[in-house]
Amino acid sequence: MRRGQVVRHLLAYLAKVWVPFSISFVVLLLVAGLTAAKAWIIQPVVDAFIGGRTTQGDLLLLCALVAGIFISQAGLNWLYSMIAGVASGRFVRAIRADLFGRLSRQGLGYFVDRPSADLASRVVNDVAAFENAAVGSVQNLMRDLATVGMLLLVLLFKEWRLALSCLAIVAVVGSVLRRRSRQIESIGRRVQEMVSGLNRQLSELIGGIELILGFGLGRDSRDRFEEVNLRHYGTKLSAVRATASSVTLVLVIVGLGLSGILFVTGRALLAGTISPGDFGTFLAAIYLMQAPALNIASSVANLSRGMAAAGRALELLQHEPEILDPESPRPLPAGDLEIELDEVSFRYEEKATVVEGLSFEIRPGELVVMVGDSGSGKSTVARLLMRFYDPLEGEVRIGGIPIREIARADLYRYLSYVSQEVFLFDGSIEFNLRVGRPAAADGEVAEAVRIACLEDFLAELPEGLATDVGERGVRLSGGQRQRIAIARAILTEARALVLDEATSALDMELEQRILQNLVDSRRSRAIFAVTHRLSLAEIADRVLVLKEGRLVEEGRAAELSARDGEFARLRRAAQASLVRDAAPAGSPLGFGGAGRTP
Ligand code: ADP
Repeated sequence: MRRGQVVRHLLAYLAKVWVPFSISFVVLLLVAGLTAAKAWIIQPVVDAFIGGRTTQGDLLLLCALVAGIFISQAGLNWLYSMIAGVASGRFVRAIRADLFGRLSRQGLGYFVDRPSADLASRVVNDVAAFENAAVGSVQNLMRDLATVGMLLLVLLFKEWRLALSCLAIVAVVGSVLRRRSRQIESIGRRVQEMVSGLNRQLSELIGGIELILGFGLGRDSRDRFEEVNLRHYGTKLSAVRATASSVTLVLVIVGLGLSGILFVTGRALLAGTISPGDFGTFLAAIYLMQAPALNIASSVANLSRGMAAAGRALELLQHEPEILDPESPRPLPAGDLEIELDEVSFRYEEKATVVEGLSFEIRPGELVVMVGDSGSGKSTVARLLMRFYDPLEGEVRIGGIPIREIARADLYRYLSYVSQEVFLFDGSIEFNLRVGRPAAADGEVAEAVRIACLEDFLAELPEGLATDVGERGVRLSGGQRQRIAIARAILTEARALVLDEATSALDMELEQRILQNLVDSRRSRAIFAVTHRLSLAEIADRVLVLKEGRLVEEGRAAELSARDGEFARLRRAAQASLVRDAAPAGSPLGFGGAGRTP
C-alpha cells in the first residue's frame, strides 16, 4: 500500500476519534505554552534583579509563579495522557474491528491462498507495532512541534532575527528527517514481515507437532526458526541504526546552528544592544528547545516505522470479498425445495478446470451420493453447493432461485455442511452441538446425539455433554469430532445436509449406522454426501459418478454395478486393493472390513 493511501486511511480513522483527539491537542498546546512561559519569565526577572528593583515579596511571587507553572504542567500532562490514551485506544480498536470484519467476510479461497499466521500477524502484531511506534509518536510530535513553535514565538517577540535563524535550522532538520523517514519506513516494513515469518514458524510447529515429533524434525524446525529469528534481529538492528543516526545528525545540526546563534547574540549582549534578561530568555529557549528537537527526530523515525506496520495491516482492507451477499436478496420459498446444478464449470484461480458442465439435482428427501477417484472434484462440488466459491459458468439454484441471489443467512439456514476436517470450538460438547441453534430443546439435542451415534461415547464421559473438548477439539478422536459435527449439522434443522467425506474417520459399521439413522430420520430433508467409499453408495437413492470433473454415470448402485462403466471400475479397484492389502482395517474404500477405529 502506498504511503498516501495509508495516510488517507489513517485520517479516516482519526476522524472517528476527533473529539478526544481535539481535546488532547488543545491540552498539548497549553503544555507547550507553559514551556514557553518558563523561558518568557526569565527576562523580566533577570532584568529586575540586575536593576536592583526586586523586593522579597517579588521573590515570593516569582517562586509561586514558577511552582504554578510546573504544577499546572504536571496536571495538564496527566490530563493529556488520559485523553490521548482514550483517543489512541479507540483508534486502534476501530482498525482491528474493521480488519477482523473484513476477514470474516472473505471467501474460502482467500484463506486458502494466505498463511493464517501472516493474517494473524497483520491484525495483531502490525496494529500493535503501529500503536506503539506511531500513535504515541504523533502525540509527542505534536507536543514537541508546538513547544518548538511557541519558543520560536517567544524569540520572535524578543528578537525577530533570532527567531528567523532558528527557523532556518528547523527547515534544515525537516528536510533531513524527510529523507531519513522513507528509508526507515522501508526497513520497518521488512521488520514486520520478519515478525510475520516468526509467527508462521510458530504456527507450523504447533499445527504440525505430530509430524515434527513423528519424523524427528524438531532440529530442522528450530533451525528454520533461528534463521528467521536472526534475520529479524538483523533487520531490527538496521532500523535502530537508521533511527540512531538520524537523531544524531539532527542533534549535530541543531548544536552547530544554535552555537552559531549564541555567538551572534553573545556579541549583541557585549555590545549592549540586547539586555541581560533578553539573553537569559534566549539561553533558556535554546535549552528548552533541545529536548523537543531530539524527540522530534526520534518521533519521526518511530512514525515511519509505524506507518510501515499500518500499511501492512491496512492492506487487508484492500481485498474485496469475492462472495458477496446480493444487493436485493430474493427470499427462499417456504418448505422443501429442489437443489439444482445447471451446467456448472469451475476452476481454482489460474489452475486447470476442476468441474465442467455439471448438471444434476437433489430432490427433497433424497440421499444422493457422489463418488469418484480422489481429485475428481467431489469436494469442489460440495463447496460450490455451499457457495464457498461461485461457479465460473452455470448456476446453482435452490427452489429455482440462483444461490447468488439468496441472502447467505437464508442459504445457510437451508443448507448445513459437514466437512472432513472438523473444527470444534474450545468449550463443552454441548456448546459445540448447539452453535448452529443455541435455543434447541434438550430433547432435540438428545435426538441429534442418537442419530450421530454419540450416546455410548457420551455415557462413558463422567461429565457427559459438559465435557470440554479442548482447543479445536484436540481431546477427542477424529471419529468423535466427526460425529459431533454431524449432530451439530442435524440440530440446525437445515433442510439439506451437504456431507463432504463427513464420516471418513469412522469405521464402516458406525458409518453405516449413522447414515441409516440419517436416512430414517430425514423425513423430507435431502442429503448430499461426497465420499470415496463405495459402501455408502449402496444405500443411496441415487449415485453420481464423477470423473475428472464431469458426471459420467448416474443411477442406483445396483444398476451402475451391472453396467460395465466407471462405477464398476471403481468397485473393482476397491476390491482389488482390499485383496492386495489383505488387511481390511483402514482401507479407504473398504467393503465389509472393520475400517479405522472411531
Ligand atoms: P476430490 O474431493 O474428488 O478428491 P477436490 O475437489 O478436492 O477432489 O479437488 C479437485 C482438484 O482441484 C484437485 O486437482 C485439487 O488439487 C484441486 N484443488 C482442490 N482445492 C483447491 C484449491 N483450494 N486451490 C487450488 N486447487 C485446488
